[in-house]
Amino acid sequence: MSNFPELKIPHTLAAGPGPGNTDPRVLAAFANQGVADHMQADVLRGMVEAKIMLREVFGTKNVYTFGVAGTGWSGLDSIHSAILPGDKVVVFVNGTFSGIDCLSIRMKASSVADLAANPMDPQPANVITVNVPHGQSVTGEIVEAALAEHKPMFAFMAHWETGSGRINDLQGFNDACLKNNAMGMVDAVSSLGVENFNIDDFPGVGMWASCPQKGILALPLTYAPVSFTDKAIELFKTRGCYSFTHSPLFEARHWGVVDGKDVAAGTYHRTHSAYAVASYHEALRLLLQHGREQKAADYVACEKVLREAVAAMGCDVTSNMTSLIVLNLPGEFAGREKELVGNCRAAGFGIWPTLSEPVQIRIGILNQLTNASLTDIINRFADAMQVMGVKFDKASIMADVAKKLS
Ligand SMILES: *Cc1c(COP(=O)(O)O)cnc(C)c1O
Repeated sequence: MSNFPELKIPHTLAAGPGPGNTDPRVLAAFANQGVADHMQADVLRGMVEAKIMLREVFGTKNVYTFGVAGTGWSGLDSIHSAILPGDKVVVFVNGTFSGIDCLSIRMKASSVADLAANPMDPQPANVITVNVPHGQSVTGEIVEAALAEHKPMFAFMAHWETGSGRINDLQGFNDACLKNNAMGMVDAVSSLGVENFNIDDFPGVGMWASCPQKGILALPLTYAPVSFTDKAIELFKTRGCYSFTHSPLFEARHWGVVDGKDVAAGTYHRTHSAYAVASYHEALRLLLQHGREQKAADYVACEKVLREAVAAMGCDVTSNMTSLIVLNLPGEFAGREKELVGNCRAAGFGIWPTLSEPVQIRIGILNQLTNASLTDIINRFADAMQVMGVKFDKASIMADVAKKLS
């Protein structure tokens, strides 16, 4: 008999690319609700209110804006579902996550024969992958050249590639999609809730997907935000998709979107959790109370302090995202990244290595925007570096951090 003790999970300092450090208010909202089912009136009202808040977070009037139950990949699967076997797609890859997006897209675009030839990693000829080296951004010129040459039905890019910590050119991607008449799709997992932007300013992008646990900070596994323009929804209406669960037409019904219109309360799609709805609602309230603009400015300011501190320790930062830095250790310590990350993680300091080559260190500041938490991160990283033998004047670096944060 498997008689395990009750599972206890310790508190750690979540300082990676995600999941972000969950606010106690979000956890309390999850835990402090009554027992209720998925069709209870306040649960449905909470979903409708969350939908309205999500439109503000995305900066959109798109009616089809809601959450897909699950993680970031669930929301991405919903937008990728627009792709049917044989469709021509151009995908831009510059790191781990856009690489997985590309795999998901190749699975959707495969014929039965393509899939059978390589079920785990199909290579349909109708998907064109444009690889941009790790550590570099996808530029508007790269997108325009590929779309002009291939004239695809769909184009896909990650807005912020969390694997390499690089911001890709959304304006350039949008412009090239419009010019070449391609339907743009964007993975906005790492940028939504961190950068201040309105998706309605990018009409070449018809489909957007994000995740619950990064900028939205709703870690109790909740809902991946998605948004579709009417033009994108028209594709689902006229061509269909091979998914009941992730079809935006079906999924949106539970959030009170039926036949392209807002309705007072949702209709059953699947059994949503009242607790997930409540914590998601609270996470969105927190984000909007902080304010998109203020929060984005706070990330910019904190990233700068962290970047300058690790540079003073001799590290070389290669990223340009504001919620995350990706760095190389000083020359003579190159190759010891995993050892350093392992030591930190064992001590409850949750930083990350990159998940694909080359091995680099990633330190994130999702919801770590106070002087105390930023100082704690820099202090712990400095200690770990010194334990490994890296030489620098910690006291003067910490004094400099304190001065900048005061
Ligand atoms: C984290 C991430 C994902 C995957 O999100 P999950 O919540 O792990 O499913 C996809 N794309 C990007 C750019 C990400 O940063």
